[in-house]
Amino acid sequence: MRNKSSNKVKGKNTKKRHRFFLNPYSDCGFTKCPKCETKTKVRKFPLVIHVEPQQLFLLNKKCKYCPSCDLIIVKKQELESLMTTGMIQSNPEVIGNDYLVMGTVDRKDWIEGTKNSLPPSEIIKCMYLFRDIWDFEVIPAGWYPAEDK
Ligand SMILES: [Zn+2]
Repeated sequence: MRNKSSNKVKGKNTKKRHRFFLNPYSDCGFTKCPKCETKTKVRKFPLVIHVEPQQLFLLNKKCKYCPSCDLIIVKKQELESLMTTGMIQSNPEVIGNDYLVMGTVDRKDWIEGTKNSLPPSEIIKCMYLFRDIWDFEVIPAGWYPAEDK
């Protein structure tokens, strides 16, 4: 039975939306989009996070969002501290494990999921994977001389 349902899940989910950037810089809030320089908005997104070895974690988190790029920016540090808080009671043994932010779900599915009425296979079915995952490098200010020689 387990095999059957996991096959079904893999074959079925092709829904995609949004782009994603996990921001590793604690001192850079990205008030402007790193791609197009539009001012970012703050929006809540119900994120689906896969935690090793086999745990799905739903987190409705305030994120920076660029509407022109459809880009969600999440601060890594904030995400990890919320995950720790969220898992400390239910799954303390997976705290600190590798994880992957996989996508988002609709708000109604997030509400269902947090009530624990949705098994992980159902969450995966209603999840939208990210269309793309972007990465940006920030060059710290003052790292280079202000004037060229
Ligand atoms: Zn943008």
